[in-house]
Formats: sequence, C-alpha cells, structure tokens
Amino acid sequence: MQGVSSLDELTAVRDKYLSRQRGVLALEMRKLGSLPSAERPAAGQLLNRLKGVVTEELERFQEELKSSANAVRLKTEFLDVSLPGFPYPEGKIHPIRRVWREMEEIFVRMGFSVETGPQIESDYYNFEALNIPKGHPARDDQDTLYISDNLVLRTHTSPVQIRTMEGKEPPIRIIAPGRVYRRDAVDATHSPMFHQIEGLVVDEGITMADLKGSLEAFFQQLFSPDTKIRMRPSYFPFVEPGAEVDVSCIFCSGKGCRVCKGSGWIEILGAGMVHPKVFSMVGYDPEKYTGFAWGMGIDRIAILKYQVEDLRLFFENDIRFLSQF
Ligand SMILES: [Zn+2]
Repeated sequence: MQGVSSLDELTAVRDKYLSRQRGVLALEMRKLGSLPSAERPAAGQLLNRLKGVVTEELERFQEELKSSANAVRLKTEFLDVSLPGFPYPEGKIHPIRRVWREMEEIFVRMGFSVETGPQIESDYYNFEALNIPKGHPARDDQDTLYISDNLVLRTHTSPVQIRTMEGKEPPIRIIAPGRVYRRDAVDATHSPMFHQIEGLVVDEGITMADLKGSLEAFFQQLFSPDTKIRMRPSYFPFVEPGAEVDVSCIFCSGKGCRVCKGSGWIEILGAGMVHPKVFSMVGYDPEKYTGFAWGMGIDRIAILKYQVEDLRLFFENDIRFLSQF
C-alpha cells in the first residue's frame, strides 16, 4: 500500500485487484477452468485465501486513511471558541428621536395622552381656527410652505389642538409631537423642517399657575430637580395672555455662562392660556372652560441636552456624528 495517500487512490488499487470484471483475482479465477481437474480445488482455495487477505488489508488501510484525514482536519480547522468575538456595528436611535421619546415619556407619566395630526394641513386648521385670520403676519409667504391656496405644510403642531377639541369634550390633557415646516434657509440654527411638541390642557378652573406648575415639573424631570422656569409676557394669536418661557441655564445653574449669554436663563418655548375665540371655533363654552397650551422645539431641547452647536448635524445623518449618541 505504499504510495497510496488518498481514498481515491485506494479505490483504484481495489479496482485493480478485486474488480469483478477486470480485476487481477477475477481473471485468475477464470483461468481455473483450464487447469487439470486434480489441481483446481487447491488453486481455487489459494485464490480465495488471497482474495480474503487483500480485502482485509484494503479495509484496514481505508480505516487508517480516514482517521489520519480526521487528524489533519482537527489540526487545521481548529477553532478557539474562547477568543473574543468580532465587534459588530450597532444601530442607535437618532438623537432627535431619543429626546422626543424622553419628553413624551415624562408627559405620559404626568397624565398626558399623545395625539397626532396630518403634516399636510388645511388653511383652516393651521391658521383660521387658531385665531390667525387672513392677512395676519404669521401666515406670510415668507414663513409658510403652501401646497395650494388651501393646503399648507403645517407650520406648527397647534392644528392638533383644534382636531382634538373638535373630537371630544373637556377634560383634555394631550401632547402632540411631530414634524413642522417653515420657509427658512438652512443654517446652524434654522431648518425648513423641525420638530415640536404641542401641549393642551382644557377643563373647568384651569389657570396660569397650572401651566407654570406643569412645565416646571416637566423640565425638572427632563433636566434636573433644581431647574426653575420663568415666564415673560409675549404674544401668540391663539393664546391670551401669552408668554415666553425660560428655564434656568442647565450649564451654569443660573450663574451666567456662554450658552445663556451671561443671563442665567435660556429661552425655550412659547405658551399661554387658550384664547376664548379658539374655544368658540371648536364649540366649547369660553365662559365655562379655560385651558393652557404650549409649543416647544424638540430639536432645540436636543441641542441643549447634547450641547450640539449646529442644528444641521442632526439632519445630515453623518454616521460619524450619529454613532456618538
Ligand atoms: Zn448659563
């Protein structure tokens, strides 16, 4: 069997000697017929013994070949299962979506339910019902992306207030997060698409103190338990009175720093008491019900929370930026 190193070669050897048609032993067997009858039995026995020895030897050698092939495989295909694995790139939730979820979770814990509305909105829901009649500066072509005379890409999440109030009676306690659109050129602090969370609470006896308390409780959970808020008089057509709401600077705790420009406060949202005209539009009795509403930018909160200086980074979706969150 020297010179045989594979099972294929072994098969060739087996065929050469044992093949029923052309094998050496078969040919010898056939020659038996030409021997004198006295010699045939002895020659036959001899050939049969030889066949037995050859068969046995081939089988033994086949086993040897198989086990040495296994030994080679075990050596070359060895896998150390105790080695550390290859690192896998991991998907992350977009930072805007993370902040969105976090804000939503806080409000839901406070008893608010989540409402949504269409991003393509009618003039009525985006403006008219929110006490922004035709000719009002807030619906200037400069700010609004019109789809047709009567359809716009919503400029705020406030239309969801109207849709919610049309659909049910007070008490109402909702937030409405979503995308909004303005005709703004892209720069570090502006984007034609951004995100807001609208809030609306309507019931009997709701006051501005409830507005302040709700927002303060929210920001203390979002930022830190010692966060304070303050309100400054402001004007929005759908509230009366209206207010700008500032939070104490989350970077210097109110002492004054670069982010808050030394004031200790950061301007963060617009809010106010729902205008009686808005209640009338949805069929609520303004003598019976009062309520408050706000709209705040999710992107603005994300900028503060993650100390990102350029809004564009959130929307360019560069994986090197996004993988840091
Ligand atoms: Zn500061």
